[in-house]
Amino acid sequence: MSENVVIIGSGPAGWAAAIYTARANLTPLVYEGAITEENQTQGTLPLGQLNLTTEVENYPGFPAGNLCQYLDSAIETSLRSYMAPHLGHGVSGPELMELMRQQAKNFGTRIVTDDIVKVDFKARPFKLSTRDGKTVEAASVIVATGARANYLGLPSEDRFKNRGVSACAVCDGALPRFRNHAIVVIGGGDSAVEEATYLTKFGKVVYMVHRRDALRASKIMQERALSNPKIKMKWNSALEEVLGDDTNGVTGARLKNLKTGATENVECGGVFLAIGHTPNTAFLGGQLALTDKGYVKWTTPARTYTSVEGVFAAGDVADDYYRQAITAAGTGCMSALDAERWLAAQGTH
Ligand code: NAP
Repeated sequence: MSENVVIIGSGPAGWAAAIYTARANLTPLVYEGAITEENQTQGTLPLGQLNLTTEVENYPGFPAGNLCQYLDSAIETSLRSYMAPHLGHGVSGPELMELMRQQAKNFGTRIVTDDIVKVDFKARPFKLSTRDGKTVEAASVIVATGARANYLGLPSEDRFKNRGVSACAVCDGALPRFRNHAIVVIGGGDSAVEEATYLTKFGKVVYMVHRRDALRASKIMQERALSNPKIKMKWNSALEEVLGDDTNGVTGARLKNLKTGATENVECGGVFLAIGHTPNTAFLGGQLALTDKGYVKWTTPARTYTSVEGVFAAGDVADDYYRQAITAAGTGCMSALDAERWLAAQGTH
């Protein structure tokens, strides 16, 4: 039997698409991703990037204040028990994602904890293959697989991954190896500021290493970094090598001043990368047109249509510009309405 709509991905775009298609009686099926070591390493576990962040202060509807009681009542106890305790500012990323997932479930969304690893969009119904070898057919598909954190590609970075090199402060920051050590964060965007600010809870000092002399982060985040006495800026600088050994993991970082060419070794217990993202499109096998930056191409202005009729895209996998939780949820909603109207036009719904 062919599904009406299969949604691939479980960030805000995927859940918004699920909530809207479920309420349109399309009984959506969501592939939320698999829990594998590979997905853990590259940051593509279920619930997307928000599940790897701390406070979310800019998602409308979640003002500062204690939301514990509400969260306790809205999310199943078994899921609630392993989520980070509420932080007191807005909502945490994991809390927000569990709320969205639960909301989608409440309207009858079916969820499979697996990856779609291959697609066949050449004929309808579309065919999708899962990591564990199953095939599902779908009249329409919403691609909402998001994006993942980039690394610089240094051999030393690879060598010390999970032993002091990370792209997720929330996942790894509280580990003993970082406590009371200096920590290096690479990047100058909102993520870098967020990571650096979070890491000041654990490290004795956090060096923000940025290749230019001005941050890309939003004004409020810039002020947060520049006024934090535990964050020291290393302007016009790049990470040349992660230093360490097999026994201790990371022990330092060699930084290069890009203006003068001078290098310095900084003693530190960890290096966190926050240098942007790559969209998760490999499983598409080239069957959807991509932009020159590798994101799924929206082919019609103000619509979530892709180059294949009946396949829609939502969230960060197609958006290299706004990349916010709220915009991902917004395009997720749009993709659901687009899919519903397209199915209606086909006479299948
Ligand atoms: P981003 O805004 O693209 O910033 C990436 C940073 O890494 C930039 O400062 C960039 O330098 C630097 N960079 C990129 N490639 C590099 C390389 N090869 N070597 C050294 N540095 C490199 O990415 P992001 O910070 O992950 O943010 C992504 C989106 O999510 C943004 O739209 C952001 O607003 C949003 N976000 C929002 C929040 C929030 O509101 N709380 C939190 C996190 C993320 P240049 O500046 O020189 O290009």
